[in-house]
Amino acid sequence: MAEAGTLHDAFIDELRDTYDAEKQLTKALPKLAKASSNPKLRQAFESHLQETQGQIARLEKVFASLDEKVRGKRCDGIAGIIEEGKSIMEEDFDETTMDACLIAAGQRAEHYEMAAYGTLVAWAQAMGHTEAAKLLQQTLDEEKAADKKLSGLAEGGINQSAADAAHPEEEDEPEAAPTGAKKGAAKGGRR
Ligand code: ZN
Ligand code: FE
Ligand code: FE
Repeated sequence: MAEAGTLHDAFIDELRDTYDAEKQLTKALPKLAKASSNPKLRQAFESHLQETQGQIARLEKVFASLDEKVRGKRCDGIAGIIEEGKSIMEEDFDETTMDACLIAAGQRAEHYEMAAYGTLVAWAQAMGHTEAAKLLQQTLDEEKAADKKLSGLAEGGINQSAADAAHPEEEDEPEAAPTGAKKGAAKGGRR
């Protein structure tokens, strides 16, 4: 019977999974960029593509620091997230709604990566793989920054313009007013 695996084995496994996830993302990010209407959003996806290529190179350094061959192992988690992103891109949304949805898809991917790198950093530190921990932390910081940038774009106007398109000309009149009590009662009513 084979010996039970250790945390080190699980760590190498997770590194391979994450390596594959990054590779999948280098194919998905250009599609997100292309589908974006907002130039800043397109730019954000394009610059994260550059970063992602650097993250792949960084993971190769991590493997080297552990005397491991560079190898990927199919990441089903990110594949599912990418698949969902593709379905969104097939929808017939107006431009700003599509941008809001692309941000949502991108942030799902970033959060998945943040979870993966968070674990990898913690495990590397616990096992004393300090060089690996340092490199993985750099990527974790980049993923967090990419996520923040997407939040900034969403909250900095994209969500609101999509919301305005969804609910045009909504005025300050309370929507919940009973239908029977239109003008007279609501405004000039006596009591
Ligand atoms: Zn180890
Ligand atoms: Fe990444
Ligand atoms: Fe990322």
